[in-house]
Amino acid sequence: MAFKIFHPISFIFLIFILLAPLGHAKRSTPSDKTSSAFDFIKKLKGCHKGNHTKEIHELKAYLEKFGYLKYENKSQATDDDFDDILESAVKTYQENYHIKPSGIVDDATISQMTTSRCGNPDIANGTNFMQPHGNKHESGSSNIHTVSHYTFLPGNPKWPPTKTHLTFRFSPNYPVSSVAPVARAFHKWDLATHFTFAQVGANQNSDMIIEFHRRDHGDGSPFDGPGAVIAHAFPPTDGRFHYDGDERWSIGSVAGAYDLETVAIHEIGHLLGLGHSSVGEAIMFPSISSGQVKNLHPDDIQGIRALYGR
Ligand code: ZN
Ligand code: ZN
Repeated sequence: MAFKIFHPISFIFLIFILLAPLGHAKRSTPSDKTSSAFDFIKKLKGCHKGNHTKEIHELKAYLEKFGYLKYENKSQATDDDFDDILESAVKTYQENYHIKPSGIVDDATISQMTTSRCGNPDIANGTNFMQPHGNKHESGSSNIHTVSHYTFLPGNPKWPPTKTHLTFRFSPNYPVSSVAPVARAFHKWDLATHFTFAQVGANQNSDMIIEFHRRDHGDGSPFDGPGAVIAHAFPPTDGRFHYDGDERWSIGSVAGAYDLETVAIHEIGHLLGLGHSSVGEAIMFPSISSGQVKNLHPDDIQGIRALYGR
């Protein structure tokens, strides 16, 4: 009765079980690292003011997305001229990331710009640094000198003073295995601030919601496939925090994957009202490498305390 295996339904089933693992393997391979939406920047190596190369309009779009420039003239925003405005934006970017502000797209700049990052902008109006004037705190003696570089979000949005207990929930299709790292991230903010957090059921009302999304998901900030932008979150009191479902995610440090908990601590910072910090060790630093695990840093805690005055 061996012919029975060629029954049409058996045959379809056989095809399915043969192809399914291939699809899965393709999605989870770390070789995805080689294709990122930020890869075009590598083609701009050595570019500087006065150059004209076809990827320059993409660099303008990149720097505009992250808050470094804003052209009044729409055609200037989409042309391939490396103009004064672009040079100034590149210099501001370099200063924020502690790279010599040459205005040239050099190796250090390419390395930083192609690193995966949060989708939220670094600065608000295209002219400021991540450490805006008046938000810089210096303290210390002859032996100790610390400078905080935390920032707030445009307009300093925050939760009302009476709202110290915040609830969060996960979307109904959120994977159960990814709940614990986010809960741990909330617990860390709980220990460091005046806020308390509690998880509620997927169908209950909550102050915050955590979801996975891919590509364009209807909130005006589309994700971009593997690498590049890996997550984003909205300012108070919006409460939305999205992971990019096209990334390879991990619990803890795994080569070629992003740590769910580290990214959650960062995005919760935005949910509470923090902007990006230029302190590389701070959780609010905008970029993250795969395999990297970070925690709350004194700069982050000083920031949240300054924002809420407690
Ligand atoms: Zn961010
Ligand atoms: Zn989103």
